Amino acid sequence: MRNFILIGLPASGKGTQATFIATQYPEIRLLSMGNLLRNEVRNSTELGSLIQKSMLSGSLINSEHINSLAEQFLAKEQVNMFLYDGYPRTVSQAVFLNDLLNNKYKSEITAVFYMNIPSEIVFDRMLGRLNCRDCGAVFNLKSNPPKQDGLCDVCGSMNLFIRPDDARHIVEKRVAKAQTNNNELLDFYRSSNIKIIDIDATNDIVHVSAALKYSINLFH
Ligand SMILES: [Zn+2]
Repeated sequence: MRNFILIGLPASGKGTQATFIATQYPEIRLLSMGNLLRNEVRNSTELGSLIQKSMLSGSLINSEHINSLAEQFLAKEQVNMFLYDGYPRTVSQAVFLNDLLNNKYKSEITAVFYMNIPSEIVFDRMLGRLNCRDCGAVFNLKSNPPKQDGLCDVCGSMNLFIRPDDARHIVEKRVAKAQTNNNELLDFYRSSNIKIIDIDATNDIVHVSAALKYSINLFH
């Protein structure tokens, strides 16, 4: 079993690249925590209503719920390779995942891909962000606009919107928090002797994709 973790700030291009890798490598299953959470909300599960409450109040979703979603996903998918996007987000989640992989799958993290980007560039990208309410796809008015004005390329929805929390001061806070989490995660994996591959995420989408493919092929 191979387990690749993608770490990066919001708007580092992480989600786009994760989807790209999953389509390029059918043998790799993408665990996108954002998608798993959105599914819960869409299917109005008990957890889904908890998630909605936390989103409205701006509080964090309990790690126990997050961990159990990941555990269920791994148990359901009959593949040997996983790419994790948006999980683990904290060291405690990383410890949980390590234990799960060790105990249940006799496996471990193969490598961490770090989408490295200065936060100033992230601010610019986030402030021009356009989100799809229906499938979660993210576009950018400047660098990656939808092909047809006002239409989601992925699902065809017309529900594109700019998140109210994409105001500068809120963005700065979110990014600082995410950077702290990422640094802690990187320290944790570094101290566990897991290989960390630095990807220059300031490059354009095509070059970042190529760098990721090259890195994955090293372990393939
Ligand atoms: Zn969409």
